[in-house]
Amino acid sequence: MDIKFCGAAQTVTGSCFLLKLTSGQQILIDCGLYQGGDHNFKNFNEEWNFDPKQIDALILTHAHIDHSGRIPKLVKDGFKGNIYCTNATRNLCRIMLADSAYIQEREAEQENRKRHPEQEKVQPLYTVKDAEKAMLQFVGLGYERWFELFEDCSFRFQDAGHILGSASVAMQIKENGKIKKIGFTGDIGRPDRPLLKDSVPIPAVDYLVCESTYGDKLHYTTREDQKELLSIIQKVCIKGQGKLIIPAFSIGRTQEIVYLLNELEMKDQLPKIPIYVDSPLAINATNIYLMHPECFDQETHDILEVDPNPLGFKGLKYTRNVEESKAINNHKGPAIIISASGMMTAGRIRHHVYNKIEDPKNAFLIVGFCAPGTLGRILSDGAKEIKIMGETKKVNAQILQMNSFSAHGDQKEMIDFLKLQDKSALKEIFLVHGEIERQEVFARALRKDGFQKVSIPSLNENVRV
Ligand SMILES: [Zn+2]
Repeated sequence: MDIKFCGAAQTVTGSCFLLKLTSGQQILIDCGLYQGGDHNFKNFNEEWNFDPKQIDALILTHAHIDHSGRIPKLVKDGFKGNIYCTNATRNLCRIMLADSAYIQEREAEQENRKRHPEQEKVQPLYTVKDAEKAMLQFVGLGYERWFELFEDCSFRFQDAGHILGSASVAMQIKENGKIKKIGFTGDIGRPDRPLLKDSVPIPAVDYLVCESTYGDKLHYTTREDQKELLSIIQKVCIKGQGKLIIPAFSIGRTQEIVYLLNELEMKDQLPKIPIYVDSPLAINATNIYLMHPECFDQETHDILEVDPNPLGFKGLKYTRNVEESKAINNHKGPAIIISASGMMTAGRIRHHVYNKIEDPKNAFLIVGFCAPGTLGRILSDGAKEIKIMGETKKVNAQILQMNSFSAHGDQKEMIDFLKLQDKSALKEIFLVHGEIERQEVFARALRKDGFQKVSIPSLNENVRV
């Protein structure tokens, strides 16, 4: 059979891998949107490097848009097969793909308004209707259960501990009387994070397609973050009487922060100030989290015995509509505001930046990866002035950063995730979903650890296994 690396090759986004079996069947693993500015990936989102009509099935590791974001287009362009994922991933995709479609429709509309009437109109990649239609092909499966996809091809999901519903994929394919085992790690989460279960190490395989986002890094220890967060709240909101604004991804990061705040509230350590989650997508995602206690870790189940909602507490307000969101700006005195998007490129966070960046009492706490060129990166790089909503604003507010919130394992944590691999039997590891410099460092670390053959495929490379 062949593996074709159709995306996330020497870059972090656009995950997409094609398995072409000798029997003729074609299986896609992930179908993500490319989200960067590299010219090698120009038109990546618009054009396919395979024929969607020829794909028999799609296996989806998790709901993040860089893994799922082109599914409505795949369906629109002729893919008729089932989309297999965990039950939680299916539910998250329902809101995330609709949100992604809405953003694309709005962006196309804005672009068309700028264009001359005689110029050709821009079309969105897909519409909210396309996203709804694609959902009809989703099939939710449980973790740790083998599923027979075709007669000689089965797979199962293991918890990847990355976001709600995230999974790695182990496949068994019989060809010419021999069983070949192939693994796809998806995105590998960090151990000992709040709320969700830790990842389950991927079972031993013959070939492994492995992520490498932080292949060159060692993160901070994870459980110091609650203490650090509390000391920031005390400094900014109590001592300084300012507002603490936390830009956070709607899915994953927001729920983790709320969970930590809820724990502080249960211990009676949280100052009595208003806390807002100002993102409709985060509110919808939080509801989906609460529908999937099977993904929670033991600590969260223990908390559920005494607190039926670990993602809500007195003083926490979820603001859904625009009026409620605007009302936050009229609030005088200290408050904590968690809002999307995490990189501050879009969404309600931009209104909070516009209104609060010039007041030295306030602070912005950056808790996630911000890509070069985004407002989040510009601020964390120490800009003194920024342009926002057509105006220039002075950056007088403090810009703070916490790095322990990453949803991706570091080098050591990823090598731990591979601990069930039989190094003499594993024929090859293909590194994907990482910048090339980081992948090279990770490849060296893996070789040093005893993995014999580690390669870094390029975009559209086809490998026979
Ligand atoms: Zn992810």
